[in-house]
Amino acid sequence: MRQLAALSPSQSIRSRTCFTILRACKIWIAKQKKPDQEMAARAATGKAGLLQVFSVIGQKMEWAMNQGEADRTAVIIGGGQAGAEAATLLRQNRFEGGIMLIGSEPCLPYMRPPLSKSFLARETGKESLIYKAAAAYERAGVELRLGAAVAEIDRIAKQVRLSSGEALGYGKLVIATGGRARKLPVPGSDLPNIFYLRTIADVEDLQPHMEAQRRLVIAGGGYIGLEAAAVAVKRGLAVTVLEAAPRVLARVTAPDVSSFYESIHRGAGVDIRTGVTVTGFAAGEDGAAVTVECGGGQKFAADFVLIGIGLTPNTELAEQAGLDVDDGIVVDAASRSSDPDIYAIGDCAKHAHHGFLRRRIRLESVPNALEQARAAAAAITGRAIPEAPAPWFWSDQYDLKLQMVGLSDGYDELAIRGKMESCSFVAFYLKEGVVIAADSVNRAGDFMAAKRIIGERMAIPRVRLADEAAPLKSLLQKAAA
Ligand SMILES: Cc1cc2nc3c(=O)[nH]c(=O)nc-3n(C[C@H](O)[C@H](O)[C@H](O)COP(=O)(O)OP(=O)(O)OC[C@H]3O[C@@H](n4cnc5c(N)ncnc54)[C@H](O)[C@@H]3O)c2cc1C
Repeated sequence: MRQLAALSPSQSIRSRTCFTILRACKIWIAKQKKPDQEMAARAATGKAGLLQVFSVIGQKMEWAMNQGEADRTAVIIGGGQAGAEAATLLRQNRFEGGIMLIGSEPCLPYMRPPLSKSFLARETGKESLIYKAAAAYERAGVELRLGAAVAEIDRIAKQVRLSSGEALGYGKLVIATGGRARKLPVPGSDLPNIFYLRTIADVEDLQPHMEAQRRLVIAGGGYIGLEAAAVAVKRGLAVTVLEAAPRVLARVTAPDVSSFYESIHRGAGVDIRTGVTVTGFAAGEDGAAVTVECGGGQKFAADFVLIGIGLTPNTELAEQAGLDVDDGIVVDAASRSSDPDIYAIGDCAKHAHHGFLRRRIRLESVPNALEQARAAAAAITGRAIPEAPAPWFWSDQYDLKLQMVGLSDGYDELAIRGKMESCSFVAFYLKEGVVIAADSVNRAGDFMAAKRIIGERMAIPRVRLADEAAPLKSLLQKAAA
């Protein structure tokens, strides 16, 4: 493996000395290499034996140097936002060894959120998705191995093996393998006009079908399904969303907020069907159309289908390596896995005990990916581990900016501040008097205040949260007093 970064003065002197001895051995060995006949003759004088001894010493020294180099190298598996952030942060934190980022997608690490928003709508190009320019990795001395997949982690040898067979040593390993779109395991789900939405390549496959008048059926009324529905209906497609739960966004919002989003989509022309479970797909007679078959015998005709039913974390490498995995690679507050030299961050990682939420949880969001990258980079470079803040997320549909902070499950009171009809409100969730979460729609200023309220676990009465006459900021001051 190549030396990737500047060494400290003492490391540099040691390295130079080793290199000099090694080079001398190699030159001596090369000079001694002669045809076999001569070797046989020399064997009698014992010279070949000496040659062999030097050859073995040379090999051993080369191995030891590579090993030393590997011990100082941080290898990151996965070129998503989590992996890219960890790579550059390590250098920012003055990590002195080599840093290598291995990503199976062929392009620079990119941001996924626009895939179901502006990029799907063709409002932004591919270049705008790039998270950090190539120059940023160059400046940080990060070696990029793009289009290369890790096939195995060998924890004993401290090596990762690429699918090409190449083995690369590591001192610290960061697993940032993200996840893949969850497949719908029903008959016909492999028909050619059934799509998923996780990568740039997925959107490029989907784009040619996004033409006005075409019938799109979306399985899944979560963020991705609803964002794609908003883009498609704006482009003149006939869109149907099928959601198995009794309401859209059921896992993450209150019924009032789900109803709000259902009415917005219906108003825009999307046919939203809740309580409908997809059971299979059948190819049409022409082979191009699809019939979406659902429980209770319902059928929906489609020209193409998008499935947005969540994510399966990419944990196979960790499982094979014997790490603790439970629907995510289990990590502590420092993003450290059950192996002290291996970290896991982003969508593939599961907090053993999330610092703010105080529970075992796997989060799928950009802010969480970046926070976990920060924690891993701090731990590897011996810095203080930042505290995990309240998780937050956003979703853009039509001209609605939804920003959410905290987790609302288990709430016992709801306060709506503002008017849903005017598409500008915040839904606050309380549990035993404490504000635990907020969903803000088109209220960026209030969202900042909500982040503080939730981050500091403030207890504010429901009526005061709902009272627009008192600015949120004033509630902050009173609660803090
Ligand atoms: C369409 C869409 C919209 C989203 N919208 C939002 C949003 O609005 N707000 C928000 O906060 N979050 C959003 N998210 C979620 C957010 O994008 C993810 O939480 C975030 O990208 C996670 O980053 P990650 O680096 O952990 O994983 P990923 O981005 O999945 O990156 C992992 C990378 O690792 C690679 N990899 C996997 N296995 C290997 C291997 N063996 N060897 C080498 N490389 C490997 C993968 O190919 C991938 O490139 C959205 C996600 C999608 C798909």
